[in-house]
Amino acid sequence: MSSADTMPLPCAEERSLAVGCGPAARRKTRAMNIAWGSNVVTVGGDAPVVVQSMTNTDTADAIATAIQVQGLAQAGSELVRITVNSPEAAREVAAIRDQLDRMNCDVPLIGDFHFNGHKLLTEFPDCAQALSKYRINPGNVGRGAKRDHQFGAMIEIACKYDKPVRIGVNWGSLDQELLARLMDENAKRAEPWDAQAVMREALVTSAIESAQLAEKWGQPGNRITLSAKVSSVQDLITVYRALSARCDYPLHLGLTEAGMGSKGIVASTAAIAVLLQEGIGDTIRVSLTPEPNGDRRQEVIVAQEILQSMGLRAFAPMVVACPGCGRTTSTFFQELAAKIQGYLREQMVDWRKTYPGVENITVAVMGCVVNGPGESKHADIGISLPGTGEQPVAPVFIDGQRNVTLKGERIAEEFQDIVARYVHQRFGGAA
Ligand code: SF4
Repeated sequence: MSSADTMPLPCAEERSLAVGCGPAARRKTRAMNIAWGSNVVTVGGDAPVVVQSMTNTDTADAIATAIQVQGLAQAGSELVRITVNSPEAAREVAAIRDQLDRMNCDVPLIGDFHFNGHKLLTEFPDCAQALSKYRINPGNVGRGAKRDHQFGAMIEIACKYDKPVRIGVNWGSLDQELLARLMDENAKRAEPWDAQAVMREALVTSAIESAQLAEKWGQPGNRITLSAKVSSVQDLITVYRALSARCDYPLHLGLTEAGMGSKGIVASTAAIAVLLQEGIGDTIRVSLTPEPNGDRRQEVIVAQEILQSMGLRAFAPMVVACPGCGRTTSTFFQELAAKIQGYLREQMVDWRKTYPGVENITVAVMGCVVNGPGESKHADIGISLPGTGEQPVAPVFIDGQRNVTLKGERIAEEFQDIVARYVHQRFGGAA
């Protein structure tokens, strides 16, 4: 009898560890291309999950909007949406596009339309042409008989200019006629659903019926994405599970009105991460309310960090830093971690072109000898700073080996130089 025959069966916990972990296989969807010039971004199909964002400048201010779009694109936003809410805004869209082209920024622009989209797209054909995709909210295209006509007018323009569309439903602007219809149907059920369940069903139905209507008006099925945004994490998960089960359009994920700061980040991450783990979602936006005069690029960084921390994509070297404790009583450690993180993000604007693959490395910045050397050895490059009471030296580890020991006032700068040299040698050929 072999030792394997006598080996006891693993317990449930061991079995699950042995099976491994990771997100479920991505849901099969149609693939949709969103293009500007030679830049083609694929959403859905086998494409990686795409990061997108939205400006908060006045679109009528073409220069301010172009500058913000460029900043978002440089931070890694692969698609950028701008609101097109008035004739003044629609008139400037082509100028924004021209300005971006002059700045060598070919990120596709998505126009966000509500209420008057049919008019603006008709009256400003250069706007219709300059955009790479239209977002249409079926709850905000008109009432009664006008609704289908105005929705159809937008789809006809999308077909004319060969533009994809997103049917973007939002619970704050849900189609009230559809909701009333579903409420009536619900009242006739033997066991009526609660109002929240009817609202969720209305979101899903609105998105799917509007997509079917768009196809009837001529929009190809592989030129449509869907979204159905709500502000509650549990509602969002439920709605997207239903959407995913009932159609094969690519899905745009995002929690609407997520809020400010840590609340917005945590709520968005909780909702988006659960769905991504289930293989649901083809493009994401994190809708954060910025602090007054805050940096709009934060929503891009958070979206990237969700995808990177889940192992779905890599955008920038990952900084592993310990939280610090009583062993790191000075701010030096926090400052170094922040400096390195900021440095790596800034460098990525160029590095993603010159050093492909650099986004996969890990850089450890650790506060003391307790976990510092161990974590630094696991990283591609790491530093273990001197904690309180330790020798004032900072060993640097490269590819798991102790390489050099830094000391003195310039540890931060010297470590940054070592990281830059490492990146160049590994990804750009020896210096
Ligand atoms: S590595 Fe050191 S400083 Fe950092 S949390 Fe652990 S014990 Fe504290």
